[in-house]
Amino acid sequence: MATIKRILVTGGAGFLGSYLCEKLVEDGHDVVCLDNFFTSQKSNVAQLLGRPNFELVRHDVTQAIWLEVDEIYNLACPAAPGHYQYNPIKTIKTSVLGAINVLGMAKRCRAKVLQASTSEVYGDPEVHPQPESYRGSVNTLGPRACYDEGKRAAETLFMDYHRMNRVKIRIVRIFNTYGPRMHPFDGRVVSNFIRQALEGKDITIFGDGEQTRSFCYRDDLVDGMMRMMNGPDDFIGPVNLGNPDEFTIRELAELVIEMTESKSKLVQKPLPADDPTRRQPDISLARARLGWEPKIELREGLRKTIDWFRSINVQDYRPPTPNFS
Ligand code: NAD
Ligand code: UDP
Repeated sequence: MATIKRILVTGGAGFLGSYLCEKLVEDGHDVVCLDNFFTSQKSNVAQLLGRPNFELVRHDVTQAIWLEVDEIYNLACPAAPGHYQYNPIKTIKTSVLGAINVLGMAKRCRAKVLQASTSEVYGDPEVHPQPESYRGSVNTLGPRACYDEGKRAAETLFMDYHRMNRVKIRIVRIFNTYGPRMHPFDGRVVSNFIRQALEGKDITIFGDGEQTRSFCYRDDLVDGMMRMMNGPDDFIGPVNLGNPDEFTIRELAELVIEMTESKSKLVQKPLPADDPTRRQPDISLARARLGWEPKIELREGLRKTIDWFRSINVQDYRPPTPNFS
């Protein structure tokens, strides 16, 4: 039988965190979910409340907390551009102070700690697809910098705690991921398009829609994250996790309209500043070291996501900030 571990998931009530908590609870671990509910709500983990191996803590990662754990997945951070730009100073504090707090805890407890980093560390990339060796092209002064530079600084802190204090770390760089339990008002492209299509509202294409993204389904991503945490100790990352199938935003809009049989029209809105023109992960490293690659194609993942959006009552969700379309 596998060893039972005490595992902390920061941002555990969020879109990815809540599914990760579910998997860890199913595997029999003692799971502590920590969240301040900035971009999520308790309903994401309601099915876990009352389970003897699950605990929910309302806490902000910018503040220290004393827990005894064996592993930490550090996911706490708003991830949707509109919401992370709402209070950019808080966003960078969440990444940097959050990293310092979980690394301090990992050092004290001799725990292993995984950082949910992002493809945004590559900025608006000049290299395509993006391998981990690419150092990126981020505008340090722009509106996305609070997130991008916060995540870059967190990676630096992880490496320095590893080098200086031999903290056991893992770094994963997550590319656009979607699926059930995305916040309907998070303003990200997949949730926006599905909500707009189901409500028969205009589908908001930012810019000409020729920019690209590569969309990974939630279950594939969380599987990769758990493999990385449990992978060999000589492989700390960073490693890209994402689906290499690349689509234009216009193609995504057309697919969502087709699959929802919606009568919504496509309308153009201004392209936000520093919006990356293209993005596609090079996942050779994840394939070689983790034996991981995504299995769920966009159409199949969208089907499951659309079904979930049909099953919820959007009125039950509070927009985290006014910044969604
Ligand atoms: P999400 O917004 O659903 O989840 C983030 C969670 O962190 C939310 O529950 C939020 O309430 C919580 N949180 C925010 N600030 C906090 C704070 N100061 N203290 C405690 N909790 C806080 O987003 P997600 O898509 O589930 O993202 C999870 C992680 O993965 C984030 O760190 C994000 O940067 C990273 N990531 C996600 C994607 C993606 O496409 N989903 C891509 C790259 C990186
Ligand atoms: N986008 C869009 N319409 C929307 C929301 C987003 O056209 O209603 C575009 C956005 O400009 C970007 C892409 O979709 O080019 C992905 O945006 P998202 O916010 O999901 O994530 P990003 O990859 O930019 O962090």
